[in-house]
Amino acid sequence: MGISNRKKKNHYRKFWRLGMEEYNTGVFDISPDGELLVHEGNYQYNIFDIVKKYGTSTEIVFPTIIEHRVRDLIETFNAYIKVLGYKGKFYYHYCMKVNQNKEFVLPVVAEGANLEVSSANELSLVKKMIEQDKFNAKMRILCNGPKTGKYISLIEELGGKGLVVIPIIEDATELARLNKFKGEVGIRVNLNIKIESHWDKKFNRFGFTEEELIKLGKIRGLSILHYHISSQIENMEGVLKPLKRAIELYGKLREKNPGLDTLDIGGGAGVPYEKKKHFYSAKNLIQGIVKTAKSYSDKLGIKHPNLITEWSRFVVAPAQITVYKILAEKNVENKGKNKWYAIDGSFMNDLIDTWAIHQKWHVAPVNHMNTRRLAKVWMVGSSRDCDDKYTAGGSYIPLPRFSDVEELYVAFFDTGAYQDSLASHHCLLSSPAKLIAQNGEIKIARKRETPEDVGKLFGW
Ligand SMILES: *Cc1c(COP(=O)(O)O)cnc(C)c1O
Repeated sequence: MGISNRKKKNHYRKFWRLGMEEYNTGVFDISPDGELLVHEGNYQYNIFDIVKKYGTSTEIVFPTIIEHRVRDLIETFNAYIKVLGYKGKFYYHYCMKVNQNKEFVLPVVAEGANLEVSSANELSLVKKMIEQDKFNAKMRILCNGPKTGKYISLIEELGGKGLVVIPIIEDATELARLNKFKGEVGIRVNLNIKIESHWDKKFNRFGFTEEELIKLGKIRGLSILHYHISSQIENMEGVLKPLKRAIELYGKLREKNPGLDTLDIGGGAGVPYEKKKHFYSAKNLIQGIVKTAKSYSDKLGIKHPNLITEWSRFVVAPAQITVYKILAEKNVENKGKNKWYAIDGSFMNDLIDTWAIHQKWHVAPVNHMNTRRLAKVWMVGSSRDCDDKYTAGGSYIPLPRFSDVEELYVAFFDTGAYQDSLASHHCLLSSPAKLIAQNGEIKIARKRETPEDVGKLFGW
């Protein structure tokens, strides 16, 4: 490639925000023909070739990205613990509700993650994994969600098999039900603090208040104090402020509960979905957490707690892209030159947070990435629902002009968290096919649903 071509390629790569570690697009690139590439060591995937072969709508998962992110997360915590002379240990727990697909959970576990489940049904998947005899029986499982009789029996059954399964007590009824529980338990606090994120609600229904917890006195088997304040926290202060408050509470609870030795700070680490502004790095965040935990514990004269994080959006969101074909275009009425592009899938079904929480996505073309002729685009899904659209918060998405090209595919980035577990079938549309790209090969994890498959879900 000549110098000017290389310059041009760099220009386009930057324009589409690819090859940028700070935006989690380090492995993405552009081919000389303007097609989207993904690098995996010395392998590479041409996404345009893949979707031409397998069709759309399609999700493509990169387990190698998951593995790297888990490994990095654990190593970075351990490194700062060592460097800063922190006395507690670090445990990473992957929160299964963020994505329960096998091709997400297995790589996470393979890299040494423990798990956090939110229902008896999720815990039954853990049972399945253990029965396959391929898993370390030392894996630790935290159990959130309503502790029904069935759930508690399963917790006890797996605990009996040598696994460390720890119920997290969320209210007075659960506390009473678990007062004869034989193993360790955790307890969840609803911290009295406000932070910047979509989920910071005026009323929080999870856990005990701080005052209630202090009044409880001694709690049998208590080893973990847990809080989960939010997901996708927008700045580091939003993580560090609750941590300081929790350490104070931890110190108070230890007076009556000397077995309490672990602080579980839940989820919260965010992903730079928009790839526009500066977003905190995991490294700085982790350094801040270990520093804060150390200085606050020292100040209060308490033993450094072991630390748990359950950052799961952070680990899996960047490991999947969702690709659609553009079917048609229309003018947007009364909105300058903006165009509607129709996709062969649905925001309400496949990327439901677009509708539910006005999630913004990074979008780039899969082919014709090196064109200078761009349109200002809003997008509509294939369901006949007027909410099935994506308008990037009222601005626009730059994409190649549809009239200039024979066919056009677009990729939505960072779709690995929550979208699958919340997916639906409005208008009986088929869910996207799911492909796994690993070791230079493509495997089909989920075929595109046939009309019969979808009809069956509704009793036909
Ligand atoms: C949903 C949830 C998480 C995941 O949080 P993210 O910030 O989205 O990764 C972690 N812990 C608990 C208890 C949760 O309910």
